[in-house]
Amino acid sequence: MKRQKDERQAIAEVRQIYAELAERPIERNCTRLRECCHFKLTGRTPYLTRGEALAAAKAFRASGRKQLPESADGTCPLLDRKSGNCIIYHDRPFGCRTHFCAAAGGPYARREVSDLIHALEQIDTRLGGNGASALPHAVTEALKQLS
Ligand code: SF4
Repeated sequence: MKRQKDERQAIAEVRQIYAELAERPIERNCTRLRECCHFKLTGRTPYLTRGEALAAAKAFRASGRKQLPESADGTCPLLDRKSGNCIIYHDRPFGCRTHFCAAAGGPYARREVSDLIHALEQIDTRLGGNGASALPHAVTEALKQLS
């Protein structure tokens, strides 16, 4: 019961951090080109703190899915193969929002978002996390943990 409450609270706080990021006057424009969702192509994989992973897992479950698909080609397992869209776009992790996509405006400078990163790290610590881990692993573990 307490764990469920902690998870719910953590997910709500993570969503609030995403909302705060969206409010920042930093010029970025994600046009959903989805290049960043192909990790082998870009050579970069988003890393998620535990709270972000729980939020992503919760959104994934809400889509009616249970387990992440195998992804041998380095495509994000949260990218719907049929539609080509992110299954959890509104709950996509911080790294997907602040990524390096040149078309979207390039990476955020750390100083622009360091307070939000710190807040995500604090949630991670509170949940017993050990720092961010690569998206496929982080979401797989969160799906196992989710109440
Ligand atoms: S979580 Fe969504 S936006 Fe982020 S890499 Fe995966 S499919 Fe792309």
